[in-house]
Amino acid sequence: LTILGLESSCDDTAAAVVRVSEGQPRILSSVVFGQTDLHAAFGGVVPEIAARAHAEKLDTCVKQALTKAELTLDGIDAVAVTSGPGLIGGVLSGVMCAKGISVATGLPLIGVNHLAGHALTPRLTDGIAYPYLMLLVSGGHCQFLIVKGCQDFTRLGGTIDDAPGEAFDKTARLLGLPQPGGPSVEREAIDGDKSRFRFPRPLLDRPGCDMSFSGLKTAVLRARDSLVAEKGGLSRQDRADLCAGFQSAVADVLAEKTRRALDLYMAEAPQIPNLAVAGGVAANCEIRTKLKTLSHDSGVGFVAPPLSLCTDNAAMIAYAGAELFAAGHRDELDMIARPRWPLDQTSPALLGSGK
Ligand code: ATP
Ligand code: FE
Repeated sequence: LTILGLESSCDDTAAAVVRVSEGQPRILSSVVFGQTDLHAAFGGVVPEIAARAHAEKLDTCVKQALTKAELTLDGIDAVAVTSGPGLIGGVLSGVMCAKGISVATGLPLIGVNHLAGHALTPRLTDGIAYPYLMLLVSGGHCQFLIVKGCQDFTRLGGTIDDAPGEAFDKTARLLGLPQPGGPSVEREAIDGDKSRFRFPRPLLDRPGCDMSFSGLKTAVLRARDSLVAEKGGLSRQDRADLCAGFQSAVADVLAEKTRRALDLYMAEAPQIPNLAVAGGVAANCEIRTKLKTLSHDSGVGFVAPPLSLCTDNAAMIAYAGAELFAAGHRDELDMIARPRWPLDQTSPALLGSGK
């Protein structure tokens, strides 16, 4: 089974070819065109610019993915595309491109939930068995899921406001550090003292797996402003200490909430328990180390796909498409693009469309 995947829900235009033979998936090609430069001057992704760039780049991207896989469309069995959630102009660009290919070739069409793509990545990279606990932690998302099947997800909790990546990006902006903020803040934090500023650990006093990160960046803002008022500016050390304090607060919250999510997951008595992470924030060393230690201490395997497959890509969409295809799922040309699409509502019975 050879699947072409398309992804265009945010600021990366991507196409990939994944082949599954005898249950073993292999990435034949994965092409990603980033748009960071296009949006740099605006301090964030501009939806209209993103949509136009996707529309311009998608066909080149598909051609490159096929060339790298040494295939033509004749060698493809189905086209999978992110049909939500995301910036609607971008999602529409990808969906229209996939429909075009499907009409022209007669290939089956499969709409994939972008978050399902992230959530199934550990099966593509490490072949882990269902059910596993997934922490999806990126620029736009933060949630715990028990992944039981390609359309069977139980959400245990998540952020009630900002995603951690967003908090890293905003914190970097507050401190005059370059975007994306995660890597900049992590770099600064290396020389920082994490105990100088005691930032809050929001919602730890409340039961459950929900999290909150927007108060943290406000705390960084206050600390910055009082330093500026006191001394007229920030020294390099001040900046490093602020970054270290912020990062360790995020890591502590994620670790404690993961501990609780693991308890809920282990109550399902999985045969081979695994904790998997996905999303750009999973690249953070302090966060990754804390989660790894936690899972080892709980006797649970820890799976962190390589960063290129943790951030947005089309290989994950092609792979999720392959699982859906094998489960008999097909979409028709009336498939819609969804700006919102919670993962625990991916089951066809709840969707009302798709088969
Ligand atoms: P989504 O996939 O949820 O729509 P996205 O595309 O913005 O959102 P990703 O590409 O998965 O998310 O990740 C990007 C985010 O990860 C950015 O917010 C970035 O700051 C953050 N990030 C990247 N590297 C690190 C790091 N080392 N430490 C912390 N955060 C990081
Ligand atoms: Fe994503």
